[in-house]
Amino acid sequence: MLQHKPYLLMNGIKEIAREFTGNENIFLGIKPYGFHAGNKIPFVVYPLLLCEELEKQNKKARFNFCVFINDWEQTRFDPEKTNWKEFPFNVIPQFTTFQFSKDSAHNVDYWEQIIYSSVYEVKQQFPEISIRCIRNSSMRDIPIMKEVVLKTIKNPDLLGNIMQNLGFPLHKSFPYTYCNPICPKCTSARTEATVVGTDDIRFTCSDCCYHGTYNYHELYYWLYHKILALPRIKYYDIDLCISGLDHYKEKDFDSRYALYQAYNIQMKPTYILYTPALHGLNGLQMGKSRNNYADMPTSKLLEIIKNNPNNYDVYMGR
Ligand SMILES: [Zn+2]
Repeated sequence: MLQHKPYLLMNGIKEIAREFTGNENIFLGIKPYGFHAGNKIPFVVYPLLLCEELEKQNKKARFNFCVFINDWEQTRFDPEKTNWKEFPFNVIPQFTTFQFSKDSAHNVDYWEQIIYSSVYEVKQQFPEISIRCIRNSSMRDIPIMKEVVLKTIKNPDLLGNIMQNLGFPLHKSFPYTYCNPICPKCTSARTEATVVGTDDIRFTCSDCCYHGTYNYHELYYWLYHKILALPRIKYYDIDLCISGLDHYKEKDFDSRYALYQAYNIQMKPTYILYTPALHGLNGLQMGKSRNNYADMPTSKLLEIIKNNPNNYDVYMGR
């Protein structure tokens, strides 16, 4: 399978702008529970810069932006079953997914609207681009999603072995699963499941003990983000993914291609463009999960990026 190199920062934007026609499909993905200045870099600033660079080459920006709303991700991992530092891929969700969370901070409709409006700033400057938001839950019945979910339930080692080979140890006696059906009774993502026959799933809920056998299409799922990328890229025929450098440090670039092979999915080569990490006024990387975030007007962020075009780390207020 052909594989592109990773494209980094402003130099990456310039190279991609030379190679693209302006009609490509572009992948952006986010959990629906916040949108801060750090998110605006991949979602607004880099798309603007890519369109700008492309039009400098006398091409027209008509990109199709697919904004994936990751409502199949866990609202949080179980801290007692997860040892981040030593075993970052021994994960298990604690409660449920964003799709089923009742916490008002996790309102998918609300966050989808905020995220869409932000990306819309790109369309205001480049009106021929298109933007659509796609929830993972809306992709359940697509054959490639079904195939990936069933393979992941059957064999969590498809990802586990890849991460081990990349130097991230897995604790074989700690639990690790990367996809569980959601309990239809209590909406817990902590279920134990096996695939029966071609597409039935037998499960037991670890929280309410409800158990049963359901067809694939009667259930919803929790699916780990590294695997969630595959069906989205394949089905929406993605040419370019724009992603934060923290994913690059997690060897996302290498694991992505290894996953295509492990899952036996034929993919065209996709470009991956990595964006810098924004640091807040306290000097630490911005992130909702780090409880360190702020908003900032796009014009100000553009200025910061243009002044530091190839820096891995950029800072608010500099
Ligand atoms: Zn339950």
